[in-house]
Amino acid sequence: MKALRYFGERDIRYADMPDPTIADASDAIVQMTACSICGSDLHIYHGHGFSDDTGFCVGHEAVGEIVEVGRDVRRVRVGDRVMMPAMIGCGQCRSCHTGNVINCENNASACYGLSNDLQGVQAQAFRVPAADTNAWKIPEGISDDQALMLTDALATAWFGARMADISPGCSVAIIGLGPIGLMAVESAFTMGAGVVYAIDPVPERRALAEAAGAIASDPGAAIEAIREATSGRKADCVIEAVGKDATIDLALRLIRKRGTVSAIGAQQTRRYAFPLERAFASGLTFRTGVCSIAEEWPAVIPLVQSGRLRPERFVSHRLPLSEGETAYRLFDNRKAGALKMVITA
Ligand SMILES: [Zn+2]
Ligand SMILES: [Zn+2]
Repeated sequence: MKALRYFGERDIRYADMPDPTIADASDAIVQMTACSICGSDLHIYHGHGFSDDTGFCVGHEAVGEIVEVGRDVRRVRVGDRVMMPAMIGCGQCRSCHTGNVINCENNASACYGLSNDLQGVQAQAFRVPAADTNAWKIPEGISDDQALMLTDALATAWFGARMADISPGCSVAIIGLGPIGLMAVESAFTMGAGVVYAIDPVPERRALAEAAGAIASDPGAAIEAIREATSGRKADCVIEAVGKDATIDLALRLIRKRGTVSAIGAQQTRRYAFPLERAFASGLTFRTGVCSIAEEWPAVIPLVQSGRLRPERFVSHRLPLSEGETAYRLFDNRKAGALKMVITA
């Protein structure tokens, strides 16, 4: 089969790969119908990924059809239209049963497409371990594009907003307006935010946030703008959706005393000097972590079904798998309004 494989910095190739096979009786094989590129795929593309492996297939956001199941699979069947949470778990432990796969008690928590341990989903087909837990029939009234956004971006955005302690009427600053940041703008309003300040250097992305009702600013102007708009109080909640030292710094400068910072950008920094003394003095709450995708679904799926969250709006490009290299290049350059890149079979 064909897959998008990582061979080195800026070298993700449309290449041959062995067909996936059932390795365990609980596995399923899914034929991809659509997958998408995530900001964290770009970390891999830039050569500072999550492992030193090469040759693995990338990607963790996909929808597709079950084409084969192991003999222990009960809940999903061949022919089912399914969506896969980016993060998987063992499916057997108490945490996995509640959807909280990050806390998997059997240490089976993993993300697709970060190494050779679990191949990615930007391929014609891929293996889903513990399919009864890690593959879900797409609910009624959810389109393929919406399901794709549920596999990571929207769930992570909602999780980020939840971790920011948003309460009705509060002010929220959101740093980084990629698809997750933009979906966080929508999530924050849905949770009752009174005002959302949206921060990104790309004017087209700021325009989208403004269209959603946010007050947008460039990172260089954000501190002054928010200080002025809040009479020096600063933001009640900050969602940081980038994962760099400079954006964490900005988050800590934008938060009011006793406010909450929620950092959901995949952290690329290993030795960040956290200003603990200042955090102590201002009594701030700082949360970070990876989203257990399916755990957010009971809240977000009905909101998508009812049209209150419209994540499909952020799909900017649609290219076939054979043009995956171009999709990465466009997304990396943030050119041509590149936001969510959908790759079709
Ligand atoms: Zn993702
Ligand atoms: Zn588990």
